[in-house]
Amino acid sequence: MSKSDDDSLRPATKLVQGGRRPEWTGDPRLGGGVVNPPVWRASTILYDNIADLKARGHATHDKLYYGRRGTPTVWALADALTDMEPGAEGTLLYPSGVAANSSGLLALLAPGDHLLMVDSAYEPTRAFCNGMLARMGVATTYYDPLIGAGIAELIRPETKLIFLESPGSLTFEVQDIPAIVAVARERGVLTMLDNTWATPLLFPALAHGVDVTMMSLTKYVGGHSDAMMGSLTATRAVWPKLRSAAYQLGQAVSPDDCALMLRGLRTLDVRMARHQASALAVAEWLAGRADVGRVLHPALPGDPGHDIWARDFSGASGLFGFALKGADEAGRTRFIEALDHFGIGFSWGGYESLVVPSNPADIRTATQWSDPDPLLRLSIGLEDPADLIADLARGFAAVAG
Ligand SMILES: *Cc1c(COP(=O)(O)O)cnc(C)c1O
Repeated sequence: MSKSDDDSLRPATKLVQGGRRPEWTGDPRLGGGVVNPPVWRASTILYDNIADLKARGHATHDKLYYGRRGTPTVWALADALTDMEPGAEGTLLYPSGVAANSSGLLALLAPGDHLLMVDSAYEPTRAFCNGMLARMGVATTYYDPLIGAGIAELIRPETKLIFLESPGSLTFEVQDIPAIVAVARERGVLTMLDNTWATPLLFPALAHGVDVTMMSLTKYVGGHSDAMMGSLTATRAVWPKLRSAAYQLGQAVSPDDCALMLRGLRTLDVRMARHQASALAVAEWLAGRADVGRVLHPALPGDPGHDIWARDFSGASGLFGFALKGADEAGRTRFIEALDHFGIGFSWGGYESLVVPSNPADIRTATQWSDPDPLLRLSIGLEDPADLIADLARGFAAVAG
């Protein structure tokens, strides 16, 4: 284990130390070690002899076996992520966040099972439930993100899993995760959380009783908009199922991408603090404007999710939404296209600010999104927030003009 496998260490220290096992960073024959686990690219692993080849258990997660099962660069990232989640047995890596979500759902569900899926989930997660899971004979019921302990009424004998995403990545409802987890535990149902928005820095999910936590590492962990990856981190009870499914599905990630993710991970704490502070400054400025409708940011007092967010999360990231009061589609387009410092694009969590229009009313089924004002989603990057605010002021001028 690396030094960061010590739950008395604080998260920022773990981010620095995670995955840097001496056997991966040093070689006594070279007289010392390096700071970062080197990039080990491999398909074939060479064995000393036939006895060695036969003896090597193939279900290991930290012994070389075959390239698809990873090399120290891959294990270093998995280890570092595991260390960030007290209560975790291990972490599996996938080529994207979507692959992590779909592999986790496949691992935990079988034909005839029932899944409870939050209505505010990331759209490709819904697409997997309505597509492959439905074809497999898994029934999905979408539930109100604000349901809390009321989830108990939706549980059937065949319900196997409750999937959460909090805050929802388009509409930012905060779920009462402890209440849902308590019901799930009592009824013997597993819980899986898409924790991409908060990361374990702001919400260590397993410590809150969640069984499997997922992240799109593409977002804040990578942090530089140059690589894609996803992760599942799980308790001891669930981990073997996830690992077996990942092996059967051939899920493998590139060691070069793992090195990028490890580089991002080391600075996650300082970046997140800046994302949080700048996003709050922008959100507060927006909230004070007459031409803004709702601001969807749980760290703002008065936000419907604020109290639960303040109880459960230790901070906020840089992604939030707001509505242009009384504007139409053309006004929203004028707003976005007037901005100089916000790229128009999907994904988020990078160092650069981004904006996209969002239309939650088109996606939901269990609940309705009835606010008529057009919504935008902002990912606040690491620029000076004063420059971002001046830019947004240009956008408002363009809507009005
Ligand atoms: C982006 C995203 C994903 C998917 O991640 P990719 O790495 O883009 O596949 C999953 N969940 C949420 C909340 C996301 O924002």
